[in-house]
Amino acid sequence: MDRHTKIVATIGPASRDPQTLERMVAAGMDVARLNFSHGTAEQHAETAQRVRTASGRVGRAVAILQDLPGPKLRIGALVGDHVDLKPGDHVVFACGDDGLGDAARMSVARPELMSALKPGDVMYLADGSVRLRVRSVRTETLEIEAEVEAGGSVASRQGLNIPGPLTELAAVPEEDLVHLAVGEKIGVDMVALSFVRSPDDIAFVRAHTRLPLIAKIEKPQAVDRAEEIIRAADCVMVARGDLGIELPIERVPIVQKELLATAGRLARPSITATQMLDSMVASTRPTRAEVADVANAILDGTDAIMLSQETAIGAYPVEAIAMMDAIARETERAAPYRRWNEHRVHRDARDPSYTVAYSVCMAARELELDAIVVPTLSGRSARLVSAHRPTVPIYALSPGRETVRRCGLMWGVRGEFLRKHRVTEELLLDACRRVVDLGWCRRGMRVAVTAGLPSGVPGSTSLFQVQEL
Ligand code: PEP
Repeated sequence: MDRHTKIVATIGPASRDPQTLERMVAAGMDVARLNFSHGTAEQHAETAQRVRTASGRVGRAVAILQDLPGPKLRIGALVGDHVDLKPGDHVVFACGDDGLGDAARMSVARPELMSALKPGDVMYLADGSVRLRVRSVRTETLEIEAEVEAGGSVASRQGLNIPGPLTELAAVPEEDLVHLAVGEKIGVDMVALSFVRSPDDIAFVRAHTRLPLIAKIEKPQAVDRAEEIIRAADCVMVARGDLGIELPIERVPIVQKELLATAGRLARPSITATQMLDSMVASTRPTRAEVADVANAILDGTDAIMLSQETAIGAYPVEAIAMMDAIARETERAAPYRRWNEHRVHRDARDPSYTVAYSVCMAARELELDAIVVPTLSGRSARLVSAHRPTVPIYALSPGRETVRRCGLMWGVRGEFLRKHRVTEELLLDACRRVVDLGWCRRGMRVAVTAGLPSGVPGSTSLFQVQEL
């Protein structure tokens, strides 16, 4: 049987070549993430093309996720690419500068930072391991002087975290809209927004694109407004890297559980991200703790598990995907399906498509059906069925090629093309024929097929039929 949990892999220097990409698709990559914090538009366009080619050669659909940097702060390049900072060292941050830095002076491209900080505030570098405290803010020279409290090694262009609302920085910088236009041009399937602070940030980007939007939760303000943000978005990412700097790191596991539960209640797909198999950046085997982390995210109800450094710059990108695949398959055998079926989604009593999604999952269980076949225009019906976590595969069939690819992020859903039908009986018949033709089901199997009346209208799913193929 197919794996239910989806695998998102970040593409980078270690995985951009066509052969590695093809092996990654064959190993189980469902979604390729292009991180727009790095690389040029030309490189991303070429990578997207290579992903599509690899997907075609292997015969497995792969969606492309564009990850926008958002108001992420970064230091500039450093002489020798690394500096070591010791407690008591003083560092001057030159705001609005992009010159080469060293241990005493580093550039930060954003001048707005000046008004966001005051003496006594804390700043973090190197993924939170280096902590500095602001000593003075010199508005005339656009400089911030800070003293190192916890030292460590800092690398060129690393992220700079300043916990707090940072309302001085635009939630969606102009550059994100430029990236968004590039993404549309190269045909990405979904877009992730970094450092979301409120549902308005989602609404703002929605006015510029029709692509599905993923809210990355990585600020305390976003955790506080998680329900509204997840409702406004199409999907949520638990972005544990920045979350573990912006919040006390020990809060991350519980916040993860709460965000995944909220996503489930609202029937939104979810991604759990960052350091899942971190030691596989340099090793062929993960630690026991990492294996447990991946398994626990699945048991928490995540739709997708994500690889970042492991596949972007690591030595074993294909092995990391294969390892996630193996952990997911094993863990799914012990997942609490009955509880998920009955209690995971908050059923909106006014919307029949929720009731149909729930009922079809219960029917699959009671009648021991072999699959659930979901003709879907926008992907919504497939998303609702997926959110209830049936034990059997969900086959989503759509006339929209984009819809098919977007299914790549939904737990348990496999998507394919089906031509559009206006007559419901014809839709039911053709859908059943199609899953057999695709080799997904055999004749004699029993499946449930969902449909709407009238056919061809998005969001009209109102019935299901049990059918012997
Ligand atoms: C994260 O912070 O966990 C994350 C996924 O975001 P990025 O990799 O863009 O920093």
